[in-house]
Amino acid sequence: MSGSQLSQSRGREALAIDAADSAEKVPTIRLQQLLRSYGHGESEVIALNSIDFTVQKGEFVALMGPSGAGKSTCLNMLGCLDRPTSGHYFFQGVDVAYLSGEQRALLRRHFIGFVFQGFNLLNRTTALENVELPLIYRRVPAKERHRRAHEALEKVGLSGREKHTPGELSGGQQQRVAIARAIVTDPALMLADEPTGNLDTAMSQEILRLLTQLNQEQGLTIVMVTHEADIAAIAQREVHFLDGRIATDTTRREQSE
Ligand code: ADP
Repeated sequence: MSGSQLSQSRGREALAIDAADSAEKVPTIRLQQLLRSYGHGESEVIALNSIDFTVQKGEFVALMGPSGAGKSTCLNMLGCLDRPTSGHYFFQGVDVAYLSGEQRALLRRHFIGFVFQGFNLLNRTTALENVELPLIYRRVPAKERHRRAHEALEKVGLSGREKHTPGELSGGQQQRVAIARAIVTDPALMLADEPTGNLDTAMSQEILRLLTQLNQEQGLTIVMVTHEADIAAIAQREVHFLDGRIATDTTRREQSE
């Protein structure tokens, strides 16, 4: 469904979708003097302190930093789950600070795929049905839903496992299902929160290879939070947070250079 069709069917709430949909030439993410604080007065904690940060379409960025540095707050912000206390977050050109909860939910549903450390799959539900879920929220008809979910499972190398429930799959396979669920809507952005945190080394490598492949071959824009330097090293760019600020922002040169 195009942005304008959505607009007609859902009225004013879809305006943000239209804007984000037609925002081809702007960065996927632009944070401008973004501040997020919790509490007031003496108990105020500044979790993100006037951050400026831009992610272009097609980048793969790892967010790092010690506990309490502001990574989760930043990821929540990027996922439109939160709004800045002051400053701006432009998601594909749309200023998220001015959107209602409903509009932000629409942006998430249409443009952002989430991958979590704990997979967050529905346990009694098959791999196929788990992957179909975001399409159900988007009211995609059943036939198209099945086709797209099959396609997404194929992309993550899980063809033939459609009928398996999470309990019948390894941790690595469960994370593949979660990745298929994140990409089935063809999102503009994938946010991954410690995606290999629950996996052993071999399975972690598998998942990192898959993320790299999705980034390089499908042009998927990925922002991933990780604690581990060797995991961050697969991203082209590493951003280190410290005390709510960006301490370093380093882009790796291509290996062939
Ligand atoms: P990280 O993910 O890097 O560990 P967070 O973004 O979770 O860091 O936290 C950044 C700072 O904001 C910390 O000092 C944390 O205690 C504080 N913080 C985060 N969420 C809340 C909240 N809901 N209420 C109060 N303080 C919070």
